[in-house]
Amino acid sequence: MKDTYIIPHAWNIIEEGFDPERVEKSESIFSLGNGYMGQRANFEETYTGPSLQGSYLGGIYYPDKTRVGWWKIGYPEYFAKVPNSPNWIGIDVEVSGEKMDLYKGGVSNFKRVLNMKEGWLDRTFEYEFDSGKKIEVKVRRFLSMKRKEVGVIKYSIRPLNFSGEIKFSPYIDAGIKNRDANYDEFFWKVNEVIESQEDEAYIWSNTLKTEFHVYTGMVNSFFLDGKKIQPAKSVEKEEKKITYHYIIPVGPGQTLELHKLGGYVHSMNHPVEKLFEESKRSLKEALDAGYEKLLEEQKEAWAKIWETSDIEIEGDVKAQQGIRFNIFQLNQTYTGEDPRLNIGPKGFTGEKYGGSTYWDTEAYCVPFYLGTKEKEVVRNLLLYRYRHLPKAIENAKKLGFTNGAALYPMVTMNGEECHNEWEITFEEIHRNGAIVYAIYNYVNYTGDYEYIPRYGMEVMIAVSRFWAERFTFSKDKKKYVMLGVTGPNEYENNVNNNWYTNYIAKWTLDYTIENLNYIKSEYPADYQRIIKKTNFSDNEIEEWKKISSSIYFPWDEERKIFLQQDGFLDKVLEPVNTIPREQRPINQHWSWDRILRSCFIKQADVLQGMYFFENHFDKDFIRRHFDFYEPMTVHESSLSPCVHSILASALDKDDKAYEMYLRTSRLDLDDYNKEVHEGLHITSMAGTWMSVVQGFGGMRTFNNDLSFAPKIPKEWKSLSFKIIYRGSIIKVTTTKTGSIFENFSEKETYFKVYNKPVHLKAHEKTFIPKH
Ligand code: BGC
Repeated sequence: MKDTYIIPHAWNIIEEGFDPERVEKSESIFSLGNGYMGQRANFEETYTGPSLQGSYLGGIYYPDKTRVGWWKIGYPEYFAKVPNSPNWIGIDVEVSGEKMDLYKGGVSNFKRVLNMKEGWLDRTFEYEFDSGKKIEVKVRRFLSMKRKEVGVIKYSIRPLNFSGEIKFSPYIDAGIKNRDANYDEFFWKVNEVIESQEDEAYIWSNTLKTEFHVYTGMVNSFFLDGKKIQPAKSVEKEEKKITYHYIIPVGPGQTLELHKLGGYVHSMNHPVEKLFEESKRSLKEALDAGYEKLLEEQKEAWAKIWETSDIEIEGDVKAQQGIRFNIFQLNQTYTGEDPRLNIGPKGFTGEKYGGSTYWDTEAYCVPFYLGTKEKEVVRNLLLYRYRHLPKAIENAKKLGFTNGAALYPMVTMNGEECHNEWEITFEEIHRNGAIVYAIYNYVNYTGDYEYIPRYGMEVMIAVSRFWAERFTFSKDKKKYVMLGVTGPNEYENNVNNNWYTNYIAKWTLDYTIENLNYIKSEYPADYQRIIKKTNFSDNEIEEWKKISSSIYFPWDEERKIFLQQDGFLDKVLEPVNTIPREQRPINQHWSWDRILRSCFIKQADVLQGMYFFENHFDKDFIRRHFDFYEPMTVHESSLSPCVHSILASALDKDDKAYEMYLRTSRLDLDDYNKEVHEGLHITSMAGTWMSVVQGFGGMRTFNNDLSFAPKIPKEWKSLSFKIIYRGSIIKVTTTKTGSIFENFSEKETYFKVYNKPVHLKAHEKTFIPKH
């Protein structure tokens, strides 16, 4: 159940009062990121209480040797983990010889504010030392959206009842370990600790094995009552750490500020021999710009992000805060310029899930970025998988597949599989379908068909080849069956004929055939290139057609529903409300055996298919499935409530839609799953956006056709969101009486509302009464 201490506010995430019990949770919730790097909201000064130190760099990984009890052939050798990077934020504080440590007590008026509108984190408090000396502390920190390699800290101290010496000790510490290291290994080699005459310092380190080279830098400047001062420094150099000490006399009421700029420059973006120079350059440029300009740039960058991605909810401040928090965190995690980067389930906010990319990206994040960004952003997400195609082919080959069949990994950083539980690694293969579905989604949404002949088709052929080999013909059923799989519902393993997997596999085969035919006539040169490159033969099309037309789908004639898998009706079917409250979540209370044998469903499975392919089924058909499966669903994956919220909206189950919406939107702020201390659920945040825009907004884009069917929960006064669609920006504002549609672009635009056509010229708007 919910556990919240976050104060409701439309634009800010606020915590008041200091409680060491909350420190690790708040470290996750108040995390910062700029797509390139990210960090948990660790304190700058020493904190001896429980804390999960965390700074991460997008795309950089360490291959942590696999640790499993019983090795199975096909397991990967390592799990690619995002290494916890050197800490550049550290600033120790001493007053007349006494060290500040919030865990030791003495804190009052503690407050944190994460300003989502402008992209910065504030922390303010008063601190009383044992001697009775009292200071007021104000800290602001942000990771620059404009200068990705730079982070900024302004740390101010004002003595409240004394004159004395304040000692600031800013440092860089490259001796940081991953808590989740399999063998307690240190992932880095520290090459050089570099001090300078000036107030800057650097540490050059590289990841072991993968050899990503990183320069971590800091530069410090000081201001007393706003005037720059140049205090003397002493240097403490250790093997993996460098600290500069500055002792500065300060009178009561005076304010001493340390501006610490820091960050990373690394070898994914620069040649190793240039890294030092680049590191100095990036910090010098930021120093010359100065704190105020850096802050201005940050505000501008975030204003631009919100311009197309903000969602406003009137009349429910908690819902408003929840949705903005989700949008904010997604934008902190992935900004879309670099096809080598992706979106990890925990983003830059924790170590769990180690590697970076899951099917979450294709199934959940793609719609969010399609709706709120220029098309290049999702194109980069697709290109990420295109670049990994050779590795996916290798991966399938390792498992015994042939003929260029590809199995994309369950978890990956560089295209290689990292996951090592056989029932998921080898069996949760539906992920392959989501990768093709994302291509369809992208092309269908943006109209950028050219992506398919250029890149997408190679992926589609390789995935179709995989499905063609993975289905087997059952003489008994006289149908093609798929044995030994795990569907999205991971509370069933090694089942036969998971409906969702069979369905998305069939769809992949059909979609690939359809597009191959189209490319053959419309893009003949590309067609020839692809055929040659993939060694494709027309016989394969015949084979795929044969399979696709004769796939077995488990079906219950009595209820007229598809079954999640063979034998599902043999289970004791009972609703979730029969599980005693204290036994939820079941994954923390029941044996795995009991979970597997029960009917309880972790997350949307059949309903995931009904969501993806809603246009293949009529409403009553979907309703029957919803009414059968949802009551048995425990929603113990963060990816679950959003899909149910969207379907519930479409089925006019408005209360259910709202209940599911609240669960997804404030999952982390209210810590529903009691795990926020481990990091945020970044990928499911995209699902929250989907539940508003596709759920309450009723936006659909099937068959190159944009349509809406807006409504709002009775708890809200109004809802408004914008979407970018094929060069237009459309704002939808819905109240209880109807919706205003406004074209914010220069391009005229067409769509349907409640099935009726609407045409808006540039900057035109229209009101459509509630249906
Ligand atoms: C879910 C998967 C998901 C993974 C990462 C698991 O709990 O069952 O569907 O890909 O988390 O978010």
